[in-house]
Amino acid sequence: MFYIIVPCHNEENNIQNFISEIEKTLKTNNIYKILFIDDGSEDKTWDKINLNFNKNKRISGIKLSKNFGKESAIEAGLNKINNDDEYHFAIIIDADLQHPISKIPEMISEWKKNYKIVTTFKENNVENIFRKFGSDLFYSIMSKYSDVKFVTKNTDFMLLDKSIVKVFNKLPEKNKFLKVFANWTGFKNKSIGIKINPRESGTSKYNFVNLFRTAINAITSFSLMPIKIVGYLGLIMSVLSIILLPILIILNIIGFTPISVQTLIIIFNVFLTGIILSAIGLLGIYISRIHENTIKRPSFIIEDEKIQ
Ligand code: UDP
Ligand code: MG
Repeated sequence: MFYIIVPCHNEENNIQNFISEIEKTLKTNNIYKILFIDDGSEDKTWDKINLNFNKNKRISGIKLSKNFGKESAIEAGLNKINNDDEYHFAIIIDADLQHPISKIPEMISEWKKNYKIVTTFKENNVENIFRKFGSDLFYSIMSKYSDVKFVTKNTDFMLLDKSIVKVFNKLPEKNKFLKVFANWTGFKNKSIGIKINPRESGTSKYNFVNLFRTAINAITSFSLMPIKIVGYLGLIMSVLSIILLPILIILNIIGFTPISVQTLIIIFNVFLTGIILSAIGLLGIYISRIHENTIKRPSFIIEDEKIQ
């Protein structure tokens, strides 16, 4: 038995199609359950889930009390199945039919070959040019400067073995970024190429603002890069002023350029500012270490659930 975990935010028109597509694809000897997570939808998504819950034994749903974001919705789903003894793996997939359901059998056969994680990457691009540029830039910076590997084209359509789900649920921190997590575990990982379909119905929930927010979340939870930049900047400023000062004094002595008191004060100021900035950088690193350990707030709250 396995689970299909589906985060949904305002997907009333996709739920039905999604279920029938799944049933069409998986009709032969697959035992599975679909767990929808209604991530604070404002439309009839929860009613649609309820309707299907009542007539289809395979369907379950969780309703979150507000829109916590896709990552948290997935986390809620993975958390819910944690104590289920019967399932073997979970597949995480979007509700809007953009992820090709037809690839699920292939993912399952990879799992049977003993891959604990099966991820997917995009072979095509359906996003507009700005979003593509932004995400390419983001992922290339992140893969250079953070502690975990980011793979640009990876999607969060993936299969996780039960043991991986257990590891995921054990991580105490908030804002677990699933794609990064999958890489971070270091488990044997198979990645297969998929073609992203255009959206079936409704619009993408991601606009510039929440993509930016997701990016900032990822940067600050997996990387100290920004604060390190500040620190290094300070260091460079101090070092440069230390080098510059004797050079100017020597030039002054040999009569090449006259050097005024103001110049000296400015250079000394740059030196001091540099020291302060590097100290802030260091402090930032210490604070982030403390911060990592203090935030224990949950990433989601369940308002209602229909589990069978
Ligand atoms: N989603 C969610 N909560 C959100 C935003 C999105 O659960 O706050 C779900 C959404 O219903 C869909 C999936 O996450 O099933 C992907 O979202 P979307 O299609 O908007 O993103 P895109 O495909 O543009 O990356
Ligand atoms: Mg989508």
